[in-house]
Amino acid sequence: MIGFGYDVHRLKEGKSLILGGVEIEYKYGTVAHSDGDVLIHAIIDALLGAAGLGDIGELFPDTDEQYKNISSVMLLRDVIAALKNEYFDIVNIDAQIVLEKPKLLHYKPEMRKNLAAVCGLPERRVNLKATTHEKLGPFGRGEGIAVYAVAELKQ
Ligand code: MG
Repeated sequence: MIGFGYDVHRLKEGKSLILGGVEIEYKYGTVAHSDGDVLIHAIIDALLGAAGLGDIGELFPDTDEQYKNISSVMLLRDVIAALKNEYFDIVNIDAQIVLEKPKLLHYKPEMRKNLAAVCGLPERRVNLKATTHEKLGPFGRGEGIAVYAVAELKQ
């Protein structure tokens, strides 16, 4: 089964930028109810999509106080547990991060290691890619960050 996920968060000065559970040094960060880990949110939606389990907003409503500022790694752990419950195994995850700045090259290995550990996968099965938006539109102006993700599950 294949699932697709997409998420966007606005960037604002003074907020923290956390991607794949790793804090990125940058003067802008994501505006969010949770910790705003847009990478994990897109991956969660890809996993839920593949499993036919709805979407992240249904599982973790952003109106629910218990999820305020919560680490998205915790949300991902919950989703992995839900998949295990239904005997799903993750085959692989692939994500594409779209942001103009900063460069993620030096952060990617740690992000990948983190996500692979949480998902119980070898790192080769959690692929991360980053691209700029070629200065086009709101993403190109650095107003936000978007992530596309796909996941394959087997049961
Ligand atoms: Mg989100």
